[in-house]
Amino acid sequence: MSDDTDLARLRSELRAWLAENAPRGWRAVSNHAAFAEAQRGWFLKLLEGGYAIPHWPAPWPGGGRTLAEQRVIYEELARADTPRLLLSFVSTYHAAATLMECASDAQRARYLPAILKGEFWCQGFSEPGAGSDLAALKCKAVRETRSGGDVYVVSGQKIWSTMAQYADRCLLLVRTASDGPKQAGITFLLMDMKARGVTVRPIEQIQGDEEFCEIFLDEVEVPVADRVGEEGAGWAVAQATLASERGLTLMELSYRMRGALWRVSDLIQAQGKAEDVAVLRAFGALIGRVDSACALADRYLDRRMAGEERVGDASLVKLTYSRVLREYARLGVSIGGLAEQLRAPITFGDLNTGNWMADYMNSYAWTIAGGSDEVQRNIIAERMLEMPREPKGWVA
Ligand SMILES: Cc1cc2nc3c(=O)[nH]c(=O)nc-3n(C[C@H](O)[C@H](O)[C@H](O)COP(=O)(O)OP(=O)(O)OC[C@H]3O[C@@H](n4cnc5c(N)ncnc54)[C@H](O)[C@@H]3O)c2cc1C
Repeated sequence: MSDDTDLARLRSELRAWLAENAPRGWRAVSNHAAFAEAQRGWFLKLLEGGYAIPHWPAPWPGGGRTLAEQRVIYEELARADTPRLLLSFVSTYHAAATLMECASDAQRARYLPAILKGEFWCQGFSEPGAGSDLAALKCKAVRETRSGGDVYVVSGQKIWSTMAQYADRCLLLVRTASDGPKQAGITFLLMDMKARGVTVRPIEQIQGDEEFCEIFLDEVEVPVADRVGEEGAGWAVAQATLASERGLTLMELSYRMRGALWRVSDLIQAQGKAEDVAVLRAFGALIGRVDSACALADRYLDRRMAGEERVGDASLVKLTYSRVLREYARLGVSIGGLAEQLRAPITFGDLNTGNWMADYMNSYAWTIAGGSDEVQRNIIAERMLEMPREPKGWVA
């Protein structure tokens, strides 16, 4: 299905399905258990409808969709004001891409069906001393034979792990060697979050949410069978995870933002500003910026699928998305004024809390997540435009 008529049919079928099935009142959820339950329920409902994993290949249920079809799906899901799958995006994007590209047949056979039963995953990459410089990670894994068989014994700490308090499994980067180049000593493991020695501590945020966690690992035994790729080859495997984060995830987010433009037009109406030329001009400019973010994400994915990706392409998409998202939320804050900022409750984090001020604050997270804006600018300047490298440090 790819031409305009087929896409129009998909759009109208999905609209009809959403009219029947879209969850209502989901922002009213006020405790963690209900939030997780609602997220799992919506994921399984979308799966049943054939709209949960359009980016997976056929014959997975609802998989094998073209990029054009995926865009229609993301836009319509946002247009119908449905919640983003916050607890499933690591499993259905990052984990699935990693498993499909780099895992063994046995790992794929075990873990992909589990994801479709509603298993949640988290990503354990960052550490207190390893974020932008991810290869500096220290979480240590030593291979041993114990009563349970061949295992890696893992000790260390991870941080900023999104929604890890709900996760069943973790994409974990560990250090198995310290001599030689930093990247060469990294290994990629799939860790059971219920394993002995795993402690998850949610980080309380200033706005009351607990979107991220610290994960403490104390001699956690991870079976060698749950290693993806060879020992020491984890850096290359992590590139598959990160490519998904910077590619398909950003396309989904860009199209969701386009699908959610109705929130701004509704707000303009509600505030009686439909004839305010300055407001309309700002809205028109925003629409253009959102369209350009979508076009950039499209071009990136087309290039990537044609094997023509250039260094820095993903950074341009990420940088543009984070900037336009901020403009989107800031326009809502400025049109809505104080009354609007105080109207809606702040709920469990999303780009789309129903509260413009919360959305604006959350938009700043995207200047850091998946690689900070400064780091993306360095990649574009130094590696894409071949400008002089920045000094590595100041010498007194
Ligand atoms: C919403 C969100 C979700 C996240 N989810 C996860 C997750 O699920 N799993 C996970 O593992 N991690 C996650 N992270 C962590 C994220 O990957 C890191 O925060 C990010 O890589 C930055 O690392 P850092 O926080 O250690 O900051 P640092 O690397 O210490 O950077 C601090 C500041 O210095 C700047 N800086 C650093 N190096 C340079 C340089 N060379 N040149 C110029 N400026 C520089 C940065 O831009 C930043 O402003 C998440 C973060 C956010 C915000």
